[in-house]
Formats: sequence, structure tokens, C-alpha cells
Amino acid sequence: MSASATTPSIIQTVAENGLCAGCGLCQSVAGEAVVQMRLSSAGYLRPYVRAALSEQQARVLRDVCPGMHVGHAPQPDAAPQHTLWGPLVGVRAGHSLDPEIRRQGSSGGGISAIASWLLDTAQVDFVAQIAVSDADPLRNEMRLSRSRAEVLAAAGSRYAPSAPLAGLDALLARGERFAFVGKPCDVAALRRYALHDARVDRLVVCMISFMCAGIPSIRGTHELLDKLGADRSQLKSFRYRGDGWPGMAKAVTHDGKVYETDYNSSWGTVLNKHLQFRCKICPDGTGEFADIVCADAWYGKDGYPDFAERDGRSLILSRTRRGEAMVSAAMAAGALSADELPVSDIARMQPYQVNRKQMVLGRLLATWLARRHAPRYRRMGLLKAALQANKIEWLRNAWGTLRRAKGEQL
Ligand SMILES: Cc1cc2nc3c(=O)[nH]c(=O)nc-3n(C[C@H](O)[C@H](O)[C@H](O)COP(=O)(O)OP(=O)(O)OC[C@H]3O[C@@H](n4cnc5c(N)ncnc54)[C@H](O)[C@@H]3O)c2cc1C
Repeated sequence: MSASATTPSIIQTVAENGLCAGCGLCQSVAGEAVVQMRLSSAGYLRPYVRAALSEQQARVLRDVCPGMHVGHAPQPDAAPQHTLWGPLVGVRAGHSLDPEIRRQGSSGGGISAIASWLLDTAQVDFVAQIAVSDADPLRNEMRLSRSRAEVLAAAGSRYAPSAPLAGLDALLARGERFAFVGKPCDVAALRRYALHDARVDRLVVCMISFMCAGIPSIRGTHELLDKLGADRSQLKSFRYRGDGWPGMAKAVTHDGKVYETDYNSSWGTVLNKHLQFRCKICPDGTGEFADIVCADAWYGKDGYPDFAERDGRSLILSRTRRGEAMVSAAMAAGALSADELPVSDIARMQPYQVNRKQMVLGRLLATWLARRHAPRYRRMGLLKAALQANKIEWLRNAWGTLRRAKGEQL
């Protein structure tokens, strides 16, 4: 972080206390001359402050930065809010009816199916989404997809830092209608930013997210490649999963050698050990601010997913009336096949997200006690969720966070 700004800005307070999600909205609000997202030495995308923020920029960021504030604004037409799962209009499981999208997609290709259908039906001019860089198989970058082929090329989860809001102002300045795909924190920030910039509601036709267990540092990817024995400097391509469900993490080097491992080993033993601190105190692993959310509709036993290879299946939640109308119309048009599910099935498919929502209030309080800084979470149902938790586990979680937040440089 540069010392060029005269007083510690709100951006520095957020980043220095481990509260930055890395979404990049601060770069868009302040302009690249003032704030630039860069990969930090710890391997996360972080704002580098190059000049002082104006009063106006600081005021907007205090309200929209997900390291400062996440919450539902009261809305008369809002969908009923479930304690664990947030606003819900429709709950389904299904998949893209385009076999290639279903196979290449992360779960059932739900996000890519809807994105592609929005383009085909000219409801949007482009889809703003993260894809792998053509220049570097380990780098994520923002793409403006304008065709099914471009959406397909961006399909699949990338378990590494992304800052899809860093160029938001330029996207909005185009004056074209678009769908936005991002992590829950990206979408929460974008939804909040709509209160400050009328272009968001006018141009962003649909906000799409996925359930998220957290963003690993790029060091997680490096460790995975080292474990596979793949030479990072010789990489031709790399994918984390997809091409099946869940599909393999697969690296191909320029000499044609292939290195792969299954999802349980890649995510379960390496990547999830590298999550940024902010993700551990995240109140929204399930994309509560999106119109539509897709996730893995895992099968499993005793409440735990088995991760066996199968044809892809997405859990598809519509959270707004607009999102529900889109999911229904995409199904009617033959882009998507999905069956309704009882809400209680979500917990069976996503046990990790149940635990997370129940634990987060304790982790948040612990962070505040240790650091005197923590984001404000409003109307997220965190107290109700905490009351459902196992009390011993809740206390253990809070204690663990307190120790970590006190002891570590976040
Ligand atoms: C960091 C991370 C953590 C996740 N944690 C969970 C979880 O706990 N539970 C769960 O069910 N699912 C999780 N997922 C999501 C899951 O892997 C699938 O993305 C989801 O099931 C949707 O599948 P799909 O087939 O509909 O998506 P696809 O059709 O494959 O589309 C995926 C979309 O996600 C976008 N995307 C991929 N990586 C990133 C990224 N790093 N930043 C922003 N956008 C990205 C792509 O642009 C694409 O539009 C996670 C994904 C990521 C990237």
C-alpha cells in the first residue's frame, strides 16, 4: 500500500484489517489514477492507493465497500427472506440443455445457460464475466462476452482472485445493457452501488452469482501445481474443474504433458487452505443480492456431498421477481431444464453454507474485539442463524477467529 495518500483512507483501513474482499469497486469509484487493484505479496487482489480520495469518493466507498458494509435495504417488493438462504422466490435443480455448456460448466452450466440465453434473446448486449486470460493461464480477467461461444469460453469456476468491479465505470459508460456475473461480494457491492449511480439499475439487466466458500490466494494455485509436478513457467492451459461434474483440476504444459487431480484433492486439500480472511467472516456465501444464483446441487450421504463424477447439476435460486421471470422464460425457451425443490433440500446440498451462516456472527464479533474494525452487516438474519447453531461450536469458532485476528498480519 502506498504512503502517498496523506491520511489513512477508508481503503487502507479495510485492507490493513483483512476486510478487503478484492472486488475492485474502489478502483472504479476513485479512478485508476487514485486506486489500482494489484496482486499483493500474499497473493490476493488488493487496492494500491496512489493518491488521496476525495470526500465524495470516501463517502460512497464507506457505503458500498463490502469490507465496510453489507446489508439488505428495506424494499416493499422484496422476496421473503429465509434465515439461512436469504431472499428466495424459486428453488430448483437442473442443468443447461446445451450438452456442451452442461459439460464445460462448473456444475450443470446453469449460469452459462442463462447468460447465453440472455444474449440469444437480445435482452442484453453483453455479459460481464470473469474468464482466464489468453496471455496467462493462471490470471483471471474481465470479459465482455457477446456470444454463446464467448460465454462458453468463460464457463467453469476459477478458484483464484478476481476483481470484476474494477472496471465498472467503463462498463456503465458504454451505455449498453448487460448481465453481470460475479462472486456474492461483487454482487452485494454492485447492488449497493446502484443507490449511488442510476446507470446500474438502467443497464444491468440481471445480476448473477454463485455460492462461494471463499477466494483462495493465487499461492493456493501455485501449491496445487507444485503438488502435481507441473512446471508453472511452461503452462499452456489450466482449469480448476468443469469438463464433467465436478471435473478434474487439469494443467497442460507446452510439451503436451497433462497433470490432473480430482476436486476433493484440489479444493479439499490445497485451495481451501488459502482463503482470504474476509471470506471467513463473510455473511453472504450464497449470493443474497443477486437476481439468480447457481451452485452445486451435490448428491451425498448423511448431509455430506460425495463429489462422485456425474452429469452436471446446478442448484438454481431465483431471488427477485425479475430473476424468477428469467429462469422461467429460459426454461420455457429450452435453454434450461430444472425441477422445483423444497427449500429444505438446499441444506442437504450445501451443508458448508449452513455452518458458515450460523457461525459468522461469532466470527464478526471476534474480529471486532481483536481489531476494533469489522464490516457492518445489516438485515442479514445473522442473530437468528446464530441461535440455530451448536453453541459449543459457535464459541469455538469465535475463539479461533479472535486468536487468528489478534495474532496474524491479515
Ligand atoms: C471461489 C469460488 C468458490 C465457490 N464456492 C462454492 C460453494 O461453496 N458452493 C457451491 O455450490 N459452489 C461454489 N462455487 C461455484 C460453483 O463452483 C459453480 O460456479 C456454480 O455451481 C455454478 O455453476 P454453473 O455450472 O452454473 O456455472 P458456469 O456455467 O460454469 O459459470 C461459472 C461462472 O462463474 C464465473 N466465475 C468463475 N470463476 C470466477 C471468479 N473467480 N470470480 C468471478 N466470477 C467467476 C464465470 O465467469 C462464469 O460465468 C464457487 C466458485 C468459486 C469461483
